[in-house]
Amino acid sequence: MENCIFCKIINQEIPSYRVYEDEKVYAFLDISQVTKGHTLVVPKEHVADIFEYEEDLAAKVFARIPKIAKAIEKAFPEMEGLNIMNNNKELAYQSVFHSHIHLIPRYSKKDDFSIHFGDHTGKYSTEEMTAIANAIKEQVK
Ligand code: 5GP
Ligand code: ZN
Repeated sequence: MENCIFCKIINQEIPSYRVYEDEKVYAFLDISQVTKGHTLVVPKEHVADIFEYEEDLAAKVFARIPKIAKAIEKAFPEMEGLNIMNNNKELAYQSVFHSHIHLIPRYSKKDDFSIHFGDHTGKYSTEEMTAIANAIKEQVK
């Protein structure tokens, strides 16, 4: 879809730290890393939010989540938990209107996670973001 930032990322029109891709989904680091390894999983097909999914697309997208979650866990064994979040509509904190699922590794009770994520852009350098993405990418089976 035109003027959709995530469609542009999927089409490689703007860069991203990709961790996984297949014919249905594209997974990449959130530019604002709430915690190290914070990953977004998006359907390649543009759907704005959960209300626009056909059952078959939802099944395919959600089927990929465990594989990516396991890769994050292997990449960062110090991780102790993982929050999976999906915000729908502005009131519920959705800010990009191409549906996406947040995978947010948890390292400690004090790791600054809350339902309202806050802005963590710039927490890691370009080199660090590349290293984080590569660590996950290497573990996706
Ligand atoms: P939402 O608030 O809609 O649940 O999540 C949107 C997420 O997309 C935010 O966490 C935000 O940091 C992330 N985001 C916004 N623009 C970009 C971008 O250009 N690249 C990447 N990698 N993430 C983005
Ligand atoms: Zn889109």
